[in-house]
Amino acid sequence: MATATTEHYRAYSPKPFTRAERDSVTVVFGGLHWRVERVIQAVLENGGNKAEVLPVATKEDLLTGREVADIGQCCPTSFTTGNLVNFIKKKSDELGAEEVTKKYVYLTAGSCGACRFGQYHQSYELGLRNSGLGAFRMFLLAQDQLDQKAAMGDGLDLNLPMTLGCLWGIFCTDLVQDLEYQVRPYEVGPGQTDAVVKESVEYLYEMFRNRPRRDSWRSITWHLTSSYFTKALREIHRKFSAIEVDRLRVKPTVKITGEFYLQTVEGDPNYNIHRWLEAEGAEVYPAAIAVWMDYLLRLGLQRFEDYSGIERGARLKLGAGRVAQAIYRWNYARLRRAMGDLPHELPNQFELRRLAAPYFNSRLDGGEGDMLVGKALWSYQRKKAHMICELSPYSCMPNTMSIGAMAGVLGKYPEILYAPLEIKGDAEVHALSRCQMILTEAKKRAQKEFDEALAAAGLSLEGVRAYVDKHPEMKRATYRVPHGDAVGTAANLVHHVAQRLGRRG
Ligand code: SF4
Repeated sequence: MATATTEHYRAYSPKPFTRAERDSVTVVFGGLHWRVERVIQAVLENGGNKAEVLPVATKEDLLTGREVADIGQCCPTSFTTGNLVNFIKKKSDELGAEEVTKKYVYLTAGSCGACRFGQYHQSYELGLRNSGLGAFRMFLLAQDQLDQKAAMGDGLDLNLPMTLGCLWGIFCTDLVQDLEYQVRPYEVGPGQTDAVVKESVEYLYEMFRNRPRRDSWRSITWHLTSSYFTKALREIHRKFSAIEVDRLRVKPTVKITGEFYLQTVEGDPNYNIHRWLEAEGAEVYPAAIAVWMDYLLRLGLQRFEDYSGIERGARLKLGAGRVAQAIYRWNYARLRRAMGDLPHELPNQFELRRLAAPYFNSRLDGGEGDMLVGKALWSYQRKKAHMICELSPYSCMPNTMSIGAMAGVLGKYPEILYAPLEIKGDAEVHALSRCQMILTEAKKRAQKEFDEALAAAGLSLEGVRAYVDKHPEMKRATYRVPHGDAVGTAANLVHHVAQRLGRRG
């Protein structure tokens, strides 16, 4: 009988990255969208590191990821594994494999979720080993620790000020991205929004790179009280104000939800869905990373809710956690105010949980957990979007559960326009044509809502346009149109004009 040698599982543990190496080693990272990546690069550089952002993952990376790691893994894992392997291979072609392992390290998110998010680095390790690059070093950035110096080693030194810098970088770029997507579909001069966003992100890059350094705990107070970031966001708000918009273009609003990676990246991994939707005539409501982190805070605290009165100290920890979450949300609101309160607010996590509760257990924490269902219902009931485009990765167990739960939601609310797209990375036509069908309905709904708004106010399109022309401040991208009874931007503008004219609207 044939015998097989079994190699036992061992946890990944990289060779140390020492402080002495810091000047000669570049920290590589990626997997988010370009705005936040550019700012995190600045944060790493501010902390004394050399940093480089991975290029956006491509279909070629997907194929590499499938080839060198586990073929059955979810598509975000294939994309990111192939992306890293191809990047390191390219570098080793230029410098030689040994030099690359000396000169580069990879920084990636770690987590303990039930899905593969906690195991990404194992796929990376397997992929690199199968590519003859097994000595390459990777480090995990835990999402639930503020000071990670001990875990990372003193080469990387992901200390408290740096972690806070990443967090504030996420807040600022979330706000810029949100406003960008509200403005671009209505810009009068094509390309103006992109130019302002590029300039704004470079401006943030400089602000974060030159951020004053504070030692550990003093940096918390500084980040929470300083006007450094609010001033920067006010400046960005000013840059946006130069963009002229025509908000009378009737467009459906499409909320992006789904798995974290797919809803965040912009490129091949999600069929460029953001830009595709815009090109098809929609206004996109993007998914903020800050919402995900707010969810992680809520998730962590739920354990203490369950154990209050049973486990010693649980009630105290719950209280402290609630205070931390309130500070987190207050700070986001403070930064949002500096942007004229234009970007969307953070949805209330308890409301999301309440909405999702009949369909999905809030203690199931793989992927986006109950938040996916909660966000879909929140978008519908709070009139935030005409349609929900949900990005479901191929071979994702948590997402399959969420879609199952959404079947129950749609049974109760069949009027919700919900497009769950299975994203395999290489089946674009199928996914986009499905999305297009639902988008056609969303367009009809946006037009109907607009026509009804005009009829209710006794106005015509020409009449509203003439009013806006007489009030040029209303054509600025930073003019705030109140979110009234309607979902769409154009219909809300009609209601607003009607109110200004003293009509019922
Ligand atoms: S949530 Fe799904 S797609 Fe995302 S890492 Fe986990 S298994 Fe993969």
